[in-house]
Amino acid sequence: MRIDNDPKLDFDDVLIRPKRSEAPSRSSVNLEREYGFLNSARTWRGIPLVASNMDTVGTMEMARALGPQLLTCLHKHYPESELAAFFQQAADRDHTFVTIGIGDEDFDRLASLVRQTEVRFTCVDAANGYTKYFVDRVKRVRETFPDLTIMAGNVATPEMVQELLISGAADIVKIGIGPGSVCTTRTTTGVGYPQLSAIIECADAAHGLRGHVCADGGCRVPGDVVKAFAAGADFVMLGGMLAGHDECAGTWIEEDGRRVAMRFYGMSSRTAQERYAGGVKSYRACEGKEVLVPYRGSVHETIREILGGIRSACAYVGAAQLKDLCKCTTFVLCHRTHNTLFDS
Ligand code: 5GP
Repeated sequence: MRIDNDPKLDFDDVLIRPKRSEAPSRSSVNLEREYGFLNSARTWRGIPLVASNMDTVGTMEMARALGPQLLTCLHKHYPESELAAFFQQAADRDHTFVTIGIGDEDFDRLASLVRQTEVRFTCVDAANGYTKYFVDRVKRVRETFPDLTIMAGNVATPEMVQELLISGAADIVKIGIGPGSVCTTRTTTGVGYPQLSAIIECADAAHGLRGHVCADGGCRVPGDVVKAFAAGADFVMLGGMLAGHDECAGTWIEEDGRRVAMRFYGMSSRTAQERYAGGVKSYRACEGKEVLVPYRGSVHETIREILGGIRSACAYVGAAQLKDLCKCTTFVLCHRTHNTLFDS
């Protein structure tokens, strides 16, 4: 056993110091980024926020609402025929990820979709991205589909980011073990990594190799999204912040015929395992929980708030564009208590 004595930080442990600047007003801050990819040829341009591939949030309705500027990772439980129809109809296919797990059937589904449509992004998703099997699966996707832009995860430490970029030949590595709003990995297993430090350390490792990171989980307010970008995230993925909207697929709680709340649950929660795996297997624990999220109307207003927060933050630190936010940032340590979006 070892103890790592370096302080590790979560979003709540820091604030961003304001700075005198000659930067123009917040209205002119450019939030678009353009990325080339390490292992696939094409570039992408847009605002690098990504709807999570949870079955409540990563929906086709969400993809239509957020596109073409923002990204959506469709959840992996859509039937292949629906996915094929979606990608055949979509006028602009450059903003939607097809999510696959690590089973053979997932791989075959992707292969079939690539044959039928012009899928461009895939997300190879596993709760634990630390296994050799996972890296081999990512590598197989790369070898079979050299043109796909591949996001792979989740991990939270630099050596595994490097492994996925080099051995797996991923383009984007998804960062986050334990920070999610409906995740209980930290309490169930004791495993995890404070998300702000994970982003800082993993972005550094990825950027040294011309790879990218997507910060996944733990953003509860627009300021957390800002901190994730300021820490070096190239993309930020959101689950809970996008839950409760019209574009979500969920079980709604209604009063007098009006939506008041949505059931939002982790993809390893009992609810999800009962829905998709026929129950919780005897050797498995639940690493997710279910919460009620208040109904929040259309996602557009929430996105406007998030983007407004990022623009304002850029103006506070003198960044004319999102691209400059990280290098303009000084974090100040301010030890506050950690709480989650949906405390139980
Ligand atoms: P949020 O933005 O809600 O804080 O975090 C969303 C992320 O939490 C997802 O993109 C995914 O990585 C993670 N997540 C979703 N469901 C579960 C779960 O049941 N268990 C764990 N450990 N993580 C989850």
